[in-house]
Amino acid sequence: MEDARLRESLVAELQRTGALREAAVAHAFGAVPRHRFVPEVSEEEAYADRAISIKGTGSETVASISQPSMLARMIELAGIRPGDRVLEIGTGSGYNAALLAELAGPHGLVVTIEVEPDLVQRARAALDACGYDAVRVVLGDGHGGFAQEAPYDRIVVSARANDIPVAWWQQLKDGGRIVVPLDIGVGGEYAAGFARAGNELRSIGIVQCLFVALRGERGAAPAENIFLRAQHVRYGTQAQPVKSIVAVPTPDALSTLLELADVVVAQPETTFAVTLVR
Ligand code: SAH
Repeated sequence: MEDARLRESLVAELQRTGALREAAVAHAFGAVPRHRFVPEVSEEEAYADRAISIKGTGSETVASISQPSMLARMIELAGIRPGDRVLEIGTGSGYNAALLAELAGPHGLVVTIEVEPDLVQRARAALDACGYDAVRVVLGDGHGGFAQEAPYDRIVVSARANDIPVAWWQQLKDGGRIVVPLDIGVGGEYAAGFARAGNELRSIGIVQCLFVALRGERGAAPAENIFLRAQHVRYGTQAQPVKSIVAVPTPDALSTLLELADVVVAQPETTFAVTLVR
């Protein structure tokens, strides 16, 4: 099948399952030639609704091109508008950066940061070959964001994080949104979308996801999460679904916030107050 037809049937499949609802997002998935970002597999495989490992060491996956249905849900949570300034953490293949560029349009900006030099080169080449030369691909540790182009309307994190570093707070506009796969020891693997209101991030939705962990000095998982408060919650295999999260910089965490939540997780930089589905 021609690649345009493969994209059309992927979009139809994502719409049928409810992963993709918005016309602009459907247009982006229909426009970006995913197979050019994973030349190691056949075109048919590139357009299946699956993640594909693009870099690994032994049994460990360093980078994958994400699963389309999960990306569609995360992108819709991020709510990217034409003209937005968008920061992505974790470039990988560059595929998601291309989708973000379609949505931000010619008057927007996409900056994407990657810590692996060979992946920076690979993404740069694929983006250029597909006409996305306006996307900025930066080599560096995403924990520091990218101050030169800040502030951003949207921050999309494409790897698992257990905290929201101060740099991301500083580089996100008030009213802006951040979507981040969160691993704070509650509710299993999910990406949370937050809207910023002053020094508070309020979750606007949560989607199931699966990502590699952020690496680097700051990415190392803490020995254990610090649970300031946990009521009626069981940890381990029986994760309870998360309904909403309010996040504040840890130095600003107030006791009132702590009283409202089912679980409060204090990380070095951000404190998360989690309400569970009952
Ligand atoms: N968005 C990608 C998928 C990324 S997989 C795509 O569409 O293909 C996660 C990526 O995050 C990997 O490429 C990994 O190398 C990168 N990564 C891990 N830790 C990082 C860090 N601290 N800073 C920047 N990138 C990081």
